[in-house]
Amino acid sequence: MSRRKPRPRLAGELAAAAAAYQAAAVIPHCPECAKPCCKLESLVLELEWKQIKSFWRLDESRPAFDRRLAAGKAPREIREAGGLYYVHGKPCPAYDDAGACCRVYDQAIKPAGCSDFPVYEDGNRITADLRCEAVDLDALTESIARAVGPGFRIVRTADEEFPFIVSLTLKRKTG
Ligand code: SF4
Ligand code: SF4
Repeated sequence: MSRRKPRPRLAGELAAAAAAYQAAAVIPHCPECAKPCCKLESLVLELEWKQIKSFWRLDESRPAFDRRLAAGKAPREIREAGGLYYVHGKPCPAYDDAGACCRVYDQAIKPAGCSDFPVYEDGNRITADLRCEAVDLDALTESIARAVGPGFRIVRTADEEFPFIVSLTLKRKTG
């Protein structure tokens, strides 16, 4: 279930292009990935309470868990901030290491951020996370260019603070 508002046509085309790239170039590579993102060695996983409760198989209430977390008695890889939970430094409990796959892949409980990683649409641009070894920026740029047609050029910009995050922004060609 998507929580996003309906997209304008161009954003919809970009979202479809991002999903097509993931399906063609990223997902087939996951079983042989040298650094699976789900191990959370370099990535931080953002979760809601429902996912914390499900993934860690908790039977306590949220306030009780938060008290345990604040007392340093909850899994140390979990941090809370602003009503969300952030996990880093240990594999996601939903990760099947032997099968190199996600146990909740097709389920509604799967976090939205997991579906977005490593390539997603964000308005009139695509964001790519180069921490995923399957992302080929040139190939991604070509596939986006094919999807939106010749009326646009694509400008790449790396994030100043996190240079592995690259934006591919569409600019309308003039003249
Ligand atoms: S880092 Fe990329 S290729 Fe590796 S498991 Fe994650 S999505 Fe798949
Ligand atoms: S929920 Fe699935 S896709 Fe997301 S980090 Fe955990 S194992 Fe990976």
